[in-house]
Amino acid sequence: MENLLLNTMKRDIEYLEAHGDMEDAQAKRNELELYVLFPDARFIIDGDFLPMLDDLLTEEKHIFLSHTRYCCCWDEEEYKPTEFYEIKGDKITYRYVFNELIRQDFNPDCNHYFLELITQTTNIQFDLCMGS
Ligand SMILES: [Zn+2]
Repeated sequence: MENLLLNTMKRDIEYLEAHGDMEDAQAKRNELELYVLFPDARFIIDGDFLPMLDDLLTEEKHIFLSHTRYCCCWDEEEYKPTEFYEIKGDKITYRYVFNELIRQDFNPDCNHYFLELITQTTNIQFDLCMGS
């Protein structure tokens, strides 16, 4: 994404610090750090993921991530089919997942480009929870 976003993040951090909201400022700083770590991502990774990057999402070696696109950015007739991302690896850490999503060109293509959570639905299926 463009530097505009980087500048907006920096401004948000300054604003939060100026207003004594250190907790939110730290969350934003984490988000900024992730943005710098994954410059090619077409999505924003929630700051809460920063301390977990090298943790395993799962011990499985072959999983699927789904991205449902029934959000308010589209009219009902514009709803796109759910996308699936196949992830294979010996160690499926969060860092590995983010790099795979980037490599597989994951692009939410709407206002919900903020990856907030990854939830597990079955042993090998996970949902990408996107926010705006
Ligand atoms: Zn959307």
